[in-house]
Amino acid sequence: MPNPDPVVLREVGLRDGLQILPRTVPTAHKFEWLREAQAAGLREIEVGSFVPPRLMPQLADTAELVAFAGTLPDLVVSVLVPNLKGAERALASAAHAMLLPLSASHAHSLANLHKTPDEVVAEVGRIRDLRDATRPSCRIEVGISTAFGCTIQGAVDGDEVLRLVQAVLDQGADQVGLADTVGYADPLQVARLFERCARVAGARLACGHFHDTRGLGLANVFAAWQGGVRRFDACIGGLGGCPHAPGASGNVATEDLAYLFQSMGVPTGVDFERLLALRGHVAQWLPGETLHGSIARAGLPKTLIA
Ligand code: ZN
Repeated sequence: MPNPDPVVLREVGLRDGLQILPRTVPTAHKFEWLREAQAAGLREIEVGSFVPPRLMPQLADTAELVAFAGTLPDLVVSVLVPNLKGAERALASAAHAMLLPLSASHAHSLANLHKTPDEVVAEVGRIRDLRDATRPSCRIEVGISTAFGCTIQGAVDGDEVLRLVQAVLDQGADQVGLADTVGYADPLQVARLFERCARVAGARLACGHFHDTRGLGLANVFAAWQGGVRRFDACIGGLGGCPHAPGASGNVATEDLAYLFQSMGVPTGVDFERLLALRGHVAQWLPGETLHGSIARAGLPKTLIA
């Protein structure tokens, strides 16, 4: 048996995890969070979002976090950008990559970004032009959100997802990923849609983003992995609950995702002891917040060769 390809876990707790919480975590704690995540072997971290601070005061320190994260070795520093203005700020920072969300659900797109999906497609072209003119090394990734269903619109047509993937690649996105933003996906749906999108995007289909809202998060990750995806978003402690389903668990937990892959002999580079120590600190920094995930509760089995 050849050694399986390693999998990249992109930690998004500092963005997806914190953006819906009513509290603001002090910047000093976020620095510690970044330091410990890097020391635990995570090699790509979304540190925040360049949204206007009045909309998301929790993420107002994103520029400081990018600067700090850039001092840590072997780390890809990425940020979310909602539009061209956000991309300008990302390009003025030292971020290695920016992720622009594009909702495949027309209704979700209007509600969240106040733009139609095709208006966001056009924004990708403007961001590409700006990037090429200012800092060509900064990667542009588009995350197709609500790709598997939407709390407002309900079903999302796979043909529409495919059309948007093709459209953003045509506009110059370097990479594209699919996101189950509200936890509606099932593993067969994931396998089918990733397979169809891979035919359009090839190796540029580069990320799966799954929420565990209804308990299918890891099954969906596995379905995408079998389809060839080797990079996944995750949140330490399963942060990032769903605003439409109070109390529901959020993103797939980084520590459980690492365990899923390590148990199958797929390298992730994660040091569990250090990752679980970080989880303990995150719990202290977010008192009263429910963290999720099985490995933190049950511990690792003696049979795991990490
Ligand atoms: Zn998410």
